[in-house]
Amino acid sequence: MGRVALVTGGSRGIGAAISRALKDAGYSVAASYAGNDEAAKAFSDETGIKTYKWNVADYEASKAGIDQVEADLGPIEVVVANAGITKDAPFHKMTPEQWNAVIDTNLTGVFNTVHPVWPGMRERKFGRVIVISSINGQKGQFAQVNYAATKAGDLGIVKSLAQEGARAGITANAICPGYIATEMVMAVPEKVRESIIGQIPAGRLGEPEEIARCVAFLASDDAGFINGSTISANGAQFFV
Ligand code: NDP
Repeated sequence: MGRVALVTGGSRGIGAAISRALKDAGYSVAASYAGNDEAAKAFSDETGIKTYKWNVADYEASKAGIDQVEADLGPIEVVVANAGITKDAPFHKMTPEQWNAVIDTNLTGVFNTVHPVWPGMRERKFGRVIVISSINGQKGQFAQVNYAATKAGDLGIVKSLAQEGARAGITANAICPGYIATEMVMAVPEKVRESIIGQIPAGRLGEPEEIARCVAFLASDDAGFINGSTISANGAQFFV
C-alpha cells in the first residue's frame, strides 16, 4: 500500500480530480465531504475511494474524522486542504454571517485539517501539506472580501508551516487556481462564462486535472525541496 492521503472536499470538483490523481499515483486516498451524500456515494462507487463526512469548520469533528481515517488506512502523510465555499456580496452588503461562514470553512478549516495530522508528521519526519488557495487570494476580487481574505491567509499559513516543518521533513505549499471548469463555473450562464474566458489570456478555463497534477507533484518525493511556495495555475490571468 502507498502513502495515505487525505483530501478534504475530495468527492466533488477539483477535490475529486485530486483524489483520483493521488489514487492513480499509488496513494491510499480518503476523501472527505460536508453533506452531499449522493455525490459522495456516486464518487466512491465509481472510484473505490473511501469517503468520510465531517464539517471542516468544526475542530472536534475534524479530529474525530481524521482519527477514523487513520484507523482505517494508517497515518496520514499527505494532507490536501481543498474544501472551500463562497458567500459573495459587495462589502457594504456583506453580513457578519457571510464573513464568518467563509472564514470558518476556508481558513479555520485549514487549521482544523492540518493541526490534527501535524504531530504525526513531525514524529515520522515526513509530511506533505498542500492547501488549495485561489487567484482571488493573490489579486482580490469584487464581492469577495471574505473569500479573498481566506485565500490570502492560506499563503501565510503555508509559508509559516514551511518554516516550522522543514527540519522535520514536512513541506507545506499552496496552489492558486484561476477559473477551473467545475460544476460551479459551468453552471453560470454561457454569456457570463464567455466573458470570464475573455479575461484569461490562455483563452480557456482550466481543467480540474490540471490542478490535480500539481498536487500529485507537490506530494511526491521529487518535490522535497519545494517548501512554502505558491504554484499559480491560471492561464496567465494574474499577469493581465
Ligand atoms: P466544489 O463546490 O465543486 O466542491 C467543494 C467540496 O468541498 C465538496 O466536496 C464539498 O462537500 C466540500 N466542502 C464544502 N464545505 C465543506 C465543509 N464545511 N466541510 C467539509 N467539506 C466541505 O468546489 P471546487 O472544486 O470548485 O473548489 C475546491 C477548492 O478550490 C476550494 O477551496 C475553492 O475555493 C478552490 N478554488 C476553486 C476555483 C474554481 O474555479 N472552481 C478557483 C480557485 C480556487 P459536499 O460535496 O458535501 O458539498
